[in-house]
Amino acid sequence: MYTFKGGTHVREYKNTSSAPIERMPAPATVAIPLSQHIGAPCKPLVSPGDHVDYGQLIGEVEQGLGCPVHASVSGKVLKIEKRLSAQGMPVDVIVLENDGLYTCSPQIKPFPKPLEEAAPEEIVEVIRASGIAGMGGATFPTYAKLQSAIGKADTLIINCAECEPFITANHRMMLEHPERIMGGTQVLMKALGLRSALIGVEDNKPDAIAALRAKAPDGIQICVLKTKYPQGDERQLMYALLGREMPTGKLPADVGCVIFNTETVAAIWHAFFNGTPLCKRVVTIDGDCIGRPANVKVPLGTSYRDLIEYCGGLIKRPERVINGGPMMGNAQWDFNATITKGSSSILVLSHDFCEKGHSKQPPACIRCGRCVKNCPMHLLPNMLVNLAMRHRYDDAAAYHAMSCVECGTCSYNCPGGMQIVQHIRVAKGAIRAAQMAAKARAAAQMEEKKGEVKQ
Ligand code: SF4
Ligand code: SF4
Repeated sequence: MYTFKGGTHVREYKNTSSAPIERMPAPATVAIPLSQHIGAPCKPLVSPGDHVDYGQLIGEVEQGLGCPVHASVSGKVLKIEKRLSAQGMPVDVIVLENDGLYTCSPQIKPFPKPLEEAAPEEIVEVIRASGIAGMGGATFPTYAKLQSAIGKADTLIINCAECEPFITANHRMMLEHPERIMGGTQVLMKALGLRSALIGVEDNKPDAIAALRAKAPDGIQICVLKTKYPQGDERQLMYALLGREMPTGKLPADVGCVIFNTETVAAIWHAFFNGTPLCKRVVTIDGDCIGRPANVKVPLGTSYRDLIEYCGGLIKRPERVINGGPMMGNAQWDFNATITKGSSSILVLSHDFCEKGHSKQPPACIRCGRCVKNCPMHLLPNMLVNLAMRHRYDDAAAYHAMSCVECGTCSYNCPGGMQIVQHIRVAKGAIRAAQMAAKARAAAQMEEKKGEVKQ
């Protein structure tokens, strides 16, 4: 069985693993952010009052890295306004009024040739134009990841680990649509010029493993991973399957690998074979405050409020709302925020649930060493939290704070109740800011020198 060093066994709470994917009817309005990816935000291509069709391109990146956005309903553009993203950043959103007609855009067309005749650059362009960004939560533009791996990667890995507690959207996708995962994988293999691929699934999903194996064509191998958090982290997955380690600051392609998430691969299948851009995604909605926990295929731009209503509403007073999993997700403060390309799950938890098992004592390190033993990146989290709390960010950098993947394993296991990962995140932000300031200073000095030479 494949595994990595370190990590931890977290309580799974996979309450929705037997809940089939439901299709939520699109709400009366959707609010589609123009930035749902890493990179430059899109410029709107529509104005208030315009009519849009389902799947129509409504926002495009003018230059640089980024993903276009498409209408997830047909109807009318009501307004374009600023709202806060799930990460708390102000972004422009296009608010669409749903006319309920679902008229499809004439822009939706499958790729005109069979896969065998598609050139790598044509596949990259299909994926770019479809607006696909990493749907495991990373939201890195998929076309850019693929483009940078062509000619460099000798191994394609599909990440079906889904190791975060609560989330089962990928599990359901593997059970219900294994052929889409296989089809998307074959599109990627064609683009990369590879004859084989590995699909990694944790051993807590035997039914999904069987479903994938039943559909796997020659060359696609289903690899069973030991269930352990954070098995879905790219570094741990690569190490478990191939024994390859990735230095900090490098990409998987630098060590010959390229890794895509389950639903991203299914979106590639849709884009290539049906011509459908990324307008919907499967979201797990769970937590003890939700009336009817479920897996739901949701039009992008649907508000948390509408999704929660669809899932039976709130049955308890919510204490915490999380976009993503409980280990790595972002806390939310607004039920009007919307589902985007990276929203794998929405969790709504009560005070009692959040406090369960928490000590009432003030946090303190008791030097048990558990965080060091479990850190999958082999760091010294106890040292890092200490330095971060003292604002000794240079020292934290020297102790490799930037190698922390923010998996939260250390905080989860800490008997002293230390908020380790939160402090490391702050330290990383400060280190990044200092590095950027140093770069800007160096660039300014360089410009100054150039000016002197000219004179
Ligand atoms: S797990 Fe917590 S208490 Fe134990 S060494 Fe690490 S920070 Fe200290
Ligand atoms: S220090 Fe970072 S990588 Fe290590 S366990 Fe904590 S959050 Fe994960």
